[in-house]
Amino acid sequence: MSNIMFFSIPAHGHTNPTIRVVAELVEKGHRVRYYSFEEFREKIEGAGAEFVDCAPYQPPAPEDLDEKVGKDFASLIEMVVDTTVKMDGMMAKEIEDFKPDCIVADSVCFWGKLFAQRYHIPFVCSTTTMAFNKYTAKLMKQGFSEMITMLKGMHRINEKMEVLRNHGYQVDNFISIIQNDNETNTVVYTTKMFQPMVETFSEKYCFIGPSISKEAESYSVEQALAEKKQIYISLGTVLNKNITFYEECVEALKDMDCRVIISAGKDTDISTMKKVPENFDIQPYVNQLQVLSATDVFITHCGMNSVSESLYMGVPMVLFPQHSEEAAVATRVEQLKAGFRLKKDNAKHIKKAVSEVLGNAEYKENARKLMCDFRNSGGAKEAAAFIENVMQR
Ligand code: UDP
Repeated sequence: MSNIMFFSIPAHGHTNPTIRVVAELVEKGHRVRYYSFEEFREKIEGAGAEFVDCAPYQPPAPEDLDEKVGKDFASLIEMVVDTTVKMDGMMAKEIEDFKPDCIVADSVCFWGKLFAQRYHIPFVCSTTTMAFNKYTAKLMKQGFSEMITMLKGMHRINEKMEVLRNHGYQVDNFISIIQNDNETNTVVYTTKMFQPMVETFSEKYCFIGPSISKEAESYSVEQALAEKKQIYISLGTVLNKNITFYEECVEALKDMDCRVIISAGKDTDISTMKKVPENFDIQPYVNQLQVLSATDVFITHCGMNSVSESLYMGVPMVLFPQHSEEAAVATRVEQLKAGFRLKKDNAKHIKKAVSEVLGNAEYKENARKLMCDFRNSGGAKEAAAFIENVMQR
């Protein structure tokens, strides 16, 4: 039996896929302690791990968080360093007490990686996005404004690297924190078929396929059975307060003979929306996999989990990415021809894109091919075996 520490950021997309891996490790007799945030406590404890709340160590979120997500790199690094430094004293005690044999940290939860380096503990990176190395990073075409924001923030980043060094962390530069190379043991929650430029990754990358809940594995795929086509719309759990977009969707689809479900977000005020037609069902949150199992087209922001779940259910997509990481995922879906990218976020283009996906059987066939590939992947069992293997080396 080994002791394993998990670290993640407060985001569903980064936490959910790890839950079955944790459950698998616990089932195999390992002790897992998971450093996360209160809203994930139930899931984590449900998987049999011990839960530690990291909220007291987080700097306050900036007021303009929505504008910064995925764009303001300097703010991200500042937040990471501030969190690391705040957790530093507590972690020294935790490591002494728990004696971890391995640290598994999300690919953007850099403090986990920093603790592993500092205390010389075997490390596994958990990548819920596609795997990014120096080749695939080029696929994340940064927008001009994202690039300017990053350059403006360079001095702030350098200052924070100095703070880390002063606290005993041996970091060369910020790239050494964020970049994964072919030497880093990495679990990736997709398959080799979906991963772009898969040939550039070493055998240290373990492609386990998307992590889907046990319950959802048993949902039958029912699109063909329904009388009416079903369209599902979601912009994920973070940047989802785009009422204008939902209204454009209503305008685009109101005269179509179909059922439309919108997951608008738990904090989105939909009371300001114009009249919603009867064939629309707008919810703050849905059981996405269940909805997808009966959906014909998914209009998605291209978060990695949403795209994986869509393909797991064989559902072709209309792709509406919000930032560069999501744009890279959208590009991959386009390459595999399992989805069509929205050209403009207005009613005319939404209608055109939905008609394209419904009218051309190729999208559905390709989504089904990926569905088979995903369903044949190694999943949480393979991830747990990989982590055990790292601990044995
Ligand atoms: N999700 C859900 N119900 C909803 C909206 C989202 O269960 O109504 C889940 C979805 O199934 C996925 C996650 O939230 O697992 C969203 O992750 P993703 O990477 O797609 O996007 P993010 O929210 O991180 O932008």
